[in-house]
Amino acid sequence: MPEQLPASIAELRDRVDALARETLAPLRDDATLAPAPRKAQVRAASKAAGVFGMTQPKDLGGSEAGALALTVVRDTLAAHNVVHLSGLFGPGPGVLAGATAPLRGSHLAPLLAGEKRAAFGFTEPENAERATWGRLAGDTLLVNGQKSYVTGGADADFINTLVDVEGHGPALVVIDRRTRGVEVAQTFGSMDGTRHAHMVFRDVEVPAAHIVGKPGEGLPRAMRQIGDTRLAFAAEAVGLARWVIGFVTDHIQAPHRSGQPLGAREGVRLRYADMRIRAYAARSMVYRTARVADAARRAGAPKNAVNEVIATKVFATEVVGEVVDWGIQLVGGVALRVGHPLEALHRRVRAMRIAEGASDVLRLNLARGKLDLGKGRI
Ligand SMILES: Cc1cc2nc3c(=O)[nH]c(=O)nc-3n(C[C@H](O)[C@H](O)[C@H](O)COP(=O)(O)OP(=O)(O)OC[C@H]3O[C@@H](n4cnc5c(N)ncnc54)[C@H](O)[C@@H]3O)c2cc1C
Repeated sequence: MPEQLPASIAELRDRVDALARETLAPLRDDATLAPAPRKAQVRAASKAAGVFGMTQPKDLGGSEAGALALTVVRDTLAAHNVVHLSGLFGPGPGVLAGATAPLRGSHLAPLLAGEKRAAFGFTEPENAERATWGRLAGDTLLVNGQKSYVTGGADADFINTLVDVEGHGPALVVIDRRTRGVEVAQTFGSMDGTRHAHMVFRDVEVPAAHIVGKPGEGLPRAMRQIGDTRLAFAAEAVGLARWVIGFVTDHIQAPHRSGQPLGAREGVRLRYADMRIRAYAARSMVYRTARVADAARRAGAPKNAVNEVIATKVFATEVVGEVVDWGIQLVGGVALRVGHPLEALHRRVRAMRIAEGASDVLRLNLARGKLDLGKGRI
């Protein structure tokens, strides 16, 4: 599938490959660079290569790429192990996609311009007695509740929060972080290197105009955003798997103290072949799903690629987990030294099987779609 790319996308792949090899990998490896100047240089290089605006809508200055083009870019960047660099992609609209006045001017435009930062409040604490809820009174929505895992929540200017509005159902609500009653109860880091906040909302008064779309539309809007991110995870996963396999290929061909390269041993070869087979299957799946997603978008609702994306996210993120794990095994103890690229990758890819939907929960969704709702082509 990756081989049958249209000429324009093949050109994009080659351009991004050169960007990753010539500019981004050296920036990643430059230990003298502090995070802020590195980010600024990554952003400038990404803009010059036409990558930065791909995640941003056309009517707000971006180039709004389709699923296949974005998949090619993420896969290629990940295959050089640079996809995690901050500043590569412009802030996307997320759940504010298609937002109208006043949110379009007050929040969406500054978000895309990099003047405001957004976070996404979806996950409830395990012990929540009631999901975050709101009551409409005239022009005001009164919000109470908690969100337990808001990435970037402490630094965000506003939180796009899923709120169960009494009498209407779930809605996505833009809550400015500095509004009275919004509290960052705790901040914490996760092993992949990202930072999060546990946020509490106590009688927070939000203008009703901060409901994105209509009350009751919250879940489909949230799921659209989550679907895009799941496909992004899958594309990164298969690129990272390629990077690991390249690393292992070099390692098992290099001289070894035993007198012959590890790759001369049959047991190592079997494991190595399995890594390549699984990565090939996952990559084929990712490219097929990206094409299905583009076709569904062209056809418009009710066509979508929800089930294909779920299947692909589960498979690709599990495959990269196995590939990194096997890679560490074949490289040996040195791969576990703190700071080794495989050690760092092990921490990064582990989160992918939980964030944006835990694997088993997504499996249940796939089964439910078919068995209970009679839907779910894959
Ligand atoms: C790096 C990272 C970033 C994140 N960023 C955000 C963010 O910005 N905003 C946000 O809102 N959330 C965020 N999350 C939270 C994430 O969405 C949740 O962790 C994820 O959806 C799983 O929910 P949970 O942690 O509550 O686990 P639970 O739902 O409690 O599930 C725990 C485990 O129990 C099992 N399980 C659960 N339900 C079932 C079931 N019905 N049947 C069988 N097994 C089941 C599964 O094995 C599952 O992995 C982030 C998480 C990570 C790791």
